[in-house]
Amino acid sequence: MNQFTAGKHHDLLIDGQRVPAASGRYFETRDPSTEEVIALVAEADAADVDAAVRSARAAFEGTWGQMRPADRGLALLRLAEFVRRDQEELVELESLDSGKPVSAVRRQDLPAVIDTLIYYAGWADKISGQVIPARTDALTYTVREPMGVVGAIIPWNFPLMIGMWKIAPALACGCTVVLKPAELTPLTALKIGELAVEAGFPAGTLNVVPGFGKTAGQAIVDHPDIDKVTFTGSPGVGRQILRGAAGNLKRVTLELGGKSANIIFPGSDVEKAVKAAGAGIFFNTGQVCSAGSRILAHRSIYDEVVERLVGRAQGMRLGDPRDDKTSMGPLISQTQMERVLGYIEVGRQEGAEVAIGGARHGDKGYYVSPTVFTGVEHEMRISQEEIFGPVATVIPFEDEDDAVRLANGTVYSLAAGVWTADIAQSHRMTRKLKAGTVWVNTYGPTDVRLPWGGMRDSGFGREHGDIAIENFTEPKVVWINTGR
Ligand code: NAD
Repeated sequence: MNQFTAGKHHDLLIDGQRVPAASGRYFETRDPSTEEVIALVAEADAADVDAAVRSARAAFEGTWGQMRPADRGLALLRLAEFVRRDQEELVELESLDSGKPVSAVRRQDLPAVIDTLIYYAGWADKISGQVIPARTDALTYTVREPMGVVGAIIPWNFPLMIGMWKIAPALACGCTVVLKPAELTPLTALKIGELAVEAGFPAGTLNVVPGFGKTAGQAIVDHPDIDKVTFTGSPGVGRQILRGAAGNLKRVTLELGGKSANIIFPGSDVEKAVKAAGAGIFFNTGQVCSAGSRILAHRSIYDEVVERLVGRAQGMRLGDPRDDKTSMGPLISQTQMERVLGYIEVGRQEGAEVAIGGARHGDKGYYVSPTVFTGVEHEMRISQEEIFGPVATVIPFEDEDDAVRLANGTVYSLAAGVWTADIAQSHRMTRKLKAGTVWVNTYGPTDVRLPWGGMRDSGFGREHGDIAIENFTEPKVVWINTGR
């Protein structure tokens, strides 16, 4: 058993201290591969969120807010070093709590977390305003000031990575943070909080309050002394957050869902395209906001694409996430497994055909076999709604316009992929596709230097890069009269 879970009871992190919830309540967190309880976690509610916000406010007004920007950068670098030192423990913990294969966390999540910390550590002392010569009788310039206390609410599909996408830029800007991890995956956020204390972050700079959405999450949204909420999760909760934030007109960034199209044109490298398309939908058991869940194949190569994709599904190794050879783990929970199996049933009832998969895998753990649907109509629910599981729909298209119509034909606009050997076509497609990111001849890579997010039901605003610096700062104009 992992060092961190061995203790079983895990308290909140408020004001640099591990403390039980004010209510004294704990909730269970499970290993999705065995369904067994791995730890009990203190359940924060409004009283704990309030204590965390007070502490975060004090750190913002004092220690952290007054620190030299370069020293904030150094603190982030120290945290990166501690994450690197404890990376095997973090890998195992993330895998235990989320069911992700250790191989995937080692290859993707952990390096991204360290990269994010180093990238934003570099920003800390480079956040500047502009001298703007508006008049000859004044010196006019802008400065960028930190927004204040940030509430970060994150989902369970990439707890470490998405958590760091929010924490690192907020802290680099001089904000302080109250982080609420998803109730299904609270453990690595607490471990990061502990590492931050060890790295010398002043008490209150980063508080971690695991708990449920309706209580702890809502308390963050409603709290009058939180200046900004940064949220990643479902569109339904995103809408609630936007409404709730109206109270004190909090700033809000929302990274929501997707139903992304991966379009394969004839003449492209179909073998490579389908390999990437398989990874695009089966990676992280399909629990990826930008999963390429709709594979659009030109009619002339449709059969080949289906055949190859079925082969990719057959090649997935489902099993113990701690086994290095496992390529696909379980879904996060019983509820999520039932939801995905429910969608598979809906697809069958709508008249689509299961080419492979379509059922639970085994009888222990929340495993669902990689599933490929053919005979799918664009209007079917399985082609329109986010399933968030290892379920691909393959749909034929006639020509470029048809591909664009299908690709843009959902309420989402997060990402899209295009496979083509025609350079002019690739430019036409990137122009026409409504998406926050369009990948050409690849599918799925992200980088913290590049803006991430979408439009419509995929969200509001962008994260990453310099945009995240804008997300956590406010411009202030200074006007100094130099007239006589
Ligand atoms: P969710 O919306 O149910 O939960 C996300 C977080 O919000 C959790 O911490 C939850 O406790 C909290 N929450 C729930 N109700 C709340 C409320 N009323 N007020 C405040 N907080 C509340 O989403 P999920 O099921 O955890 O994650 C899956 C969703 O996240 C999918 O739709 C997926 O596409 C999306 N997602 C998007 C991105 C992206 O970058 N765009 C990345 C990962 C996941």
